[in-house]
Formats: sequence, structure tokens, C-alpha cells
Amino acid sequence: MSADYYEILGVGRDASADEVKKAYRKLAMKYHPDVSDAPDAAEKFKQIQEAYEVLHDPQKKSIYDRGGDPMGSGGGMGGFGFGGAQGFDMGDLFGAMFGQSASRGPRSRVRRGQDALVRLNLALAEAAFGVTKPITVDTAVICPSCQGSGSGDGGQPVQCTTCHGQGDVTTVQRSFLGDIRTVQPCPNCRGFGTIIAHPCGECSGEGRVRSTRTINVKIPPGVSTGNRVHLDSQGEVGPGGGPAGDLYVEISVQPHDVFRRDGDNLEMVVKVPMTAAALGTEVDLATLEAEREGTAAGDATVKLHVPPSTQSGTRLVVAGRGVPRLRGGGRGDLGVTLLVQTPKHLDDAQRDLLRQLAELRGESRPEVSVDRARKGMFDRIKDAFTA
Ligand SMILES: [Zn+2]
Ligand SMILES: [Zn+2]
Repeated sequence: MSADYYEILGVGRDASADEVKKAYRKLAMKYHPDVSDAPDAAEKFKQIQEAYEVLHDPQKKSIYDRGGDPMGSGGGMGGFGFGGAQGFDMGDLFGAMFGQSASRGPRSRVRRGQDALVRLNLALAEAAFGVTKPITVDTAVICPSCQGSGSGDGGQPVQCTTCHGQGDVTTVQRSFLGDIRTVQPCPNCRGFGTIIAHPCGECSGEGRVRSTRTINVKIPPGVSTGNRVHLDSQGEVGPGGGPAGDLYVEISVQPHDVFRRDGDNLEMVVKVPMTAAALGTEVDLATLEAEREGTAAGDATVKLHVPPSTQSGTRLVVAGRGVPRLRGGGRGDLGVTLLVQTPKHLDDAQRDLLRQLAELRGESRPEVSVDRARKGMFDRIKDAFTA
């Protein structure tokens, strides 16, 4: 211990810790073997490191100042290679030299939480006209016990003594090929650079706990399966009580037994008796509004005018009684495909009347005509039935 550490670093005996650090960094950058061509660079660098190691540590400094051997037993320094230097911030050093950090530095305890996704099943009328639904979400929330700090006694996290707040530890092993540097998250503080002395018992220092809650979600009119409703900051609270992610409510619309949705249009199939189809009629149809809460009775039905001579498979359109458009306003149409019903269970009188009708129309022994142009009609009926 003949070296004068103060002289090596070029600082006075009353130099502050900051001055020691500054002087050390300046010299270390100058003499680091990777950047210096000077033949004695490695030796110089070793001395600088050793001097810093002693002078930046109040305990070792005090031993040294009193003439003792700060590297003696209990110093735990071992050999004085690059790797032995505790508190030597290689990452910082290279960051300063090359404008980038070899070290990732301490990671923040407080981070934004993840987005959450919940699925919501809706009846067709709810999806069409909008609804406010209570949904149950299970996400991380701020720990009510420590308010997210993670500390059980309200104390602030203290600097980790293993990595001195850096969050990671750099070990440098010398080999004949050169120095091998390894940067790893500090095992003592898990990379945070700080330690919570008394972790909160409720969240184990995480700052957040899982919790189930019910929130009311307003679903706009016109949503369809696959749409997602976005709720700001209702997702998972982050580690360390960090800001919550967002919540997405993914819509799934249940099939309806009367109405089939086709974009903004609704399609339905209505059966009409043969006589009504031939003579024409007017029918009252319950629309999807009938299933909407608060719909006036007059709005729940629509009068459908079936013209005379209506053929089976005809599609009539009720304008504006489809699904409200999610964007752009207005509504789609209600398409009504008519299926003409042949009468069943005829009594004698009815059979006689139909025979008379057939005779009058010359249809007692009709010639069957093949109609090739009507293929579209069957497709439409098929479509109308296919949900
Ligand atoms: Zn807590
Ligand atoms: Zn640490």
C-alpha cells in the first residue's frame, strides 16, 4: 500500500465523493486498455481503479486515511483484476465513451400495465340498438394496502448494495483473448437498483393485486361480431402500481331465430297463404324493435303490403328498418322473403272450390313448364334460411 490514491486520481485529501468519481471517470476513460495505446495503460488503469475503489467507499477511505490496509481482510476484493472492482460502473463508462450504454441500467419498478380483453355476448337487438351492460373484469388493481408503493411500512426503496443502484452487475473476466464482459440483472434487487426493505404483505411488494369488479359498458348501436369497444385505462394496473393498460370488450352477437343480419340489413322469411299471395294482402310484421326496451307499440311493427300475384321467393324491402349503422348514421333495410304456402288438410268444400278454379283457369291437367330463369330465386330462399 505504498501508492498514494489521492495522487493517482489527482484529487485533494478533502475531495468530495463526487469529485473522486469525476476524476476517476476521466482517468479511466483515458487509460482504459481498450482505448489507450500507452504501453503502461493497463497498469495505470489498475491503479486508478484501485484508488477509486478505496476512495469512493467511506469505510475503506477511512481505513486508508488512518494508515491502515483497506484491502486487508474483510475487504473482499480478491485479485484486483477488472472484475474485482465493485462499484465500478463499466456500463456508464462505455456509455460516456461511445455514446451508448453497455448496461441497461436499473429497470423501473413502475411500469404500464397490459391491455385486457373481455368477451361480451349480445342479443341481436342489443347489438343493433346499443345497450349498457355490466361486465365483470378480473384485472390487477392498485394494492389498497400500500397504494402501489410495494412498501409495507411506507418507506422508500433504498439503493441496492450489490449493484449500487445500477440494476445490473458487470463482470469482466480476463482471458488471453481479451476481456470478456458479462452484464446481468442484479440478483439481489432483480434489476431494479433498489430494495424495498419491508415489502407490503398484501401484494408482496408488487404494488398491485388481482381483483374482480363490475363495470358498466356502453355499447354503441350497430356493433357486430368481432367489434371491440375500447375503454381507456381499465386494463391491468402495471407493476409497482404503474398506469393501467386499456380494456377491450370484444363483441359477439348471438344468432336470432327470426332475423338474419347481412351487414346493415336484416333479412327474414315470412310465410303467406296461397290465396293471400294471389289476391294481395297486408300483414303486420313485428320488427327487431319489438325486442328493444322502451319501444312504443306503434314502432314495434310494420305494415307489409303484399301485392296481388306475389310469387313464392319474392323479396320485399322495408326501407330503414334494418340495423343502425355504426358509422355514418342511418339504418339498413329489412328484407322480407315470402314463401307461398300450399294449403294442407283441405275439406270437401275447399277441394271442390279449388277444382272449379283449376277448371276455370284450364289447369286441370297443366303442362309442366321448366323455368330456367328462376335459379336466382332458389338461391335467395336458401340465403334467407341460412343464418
Ligand atoms: Zn401492497
Ligand atoms: Zn442490485
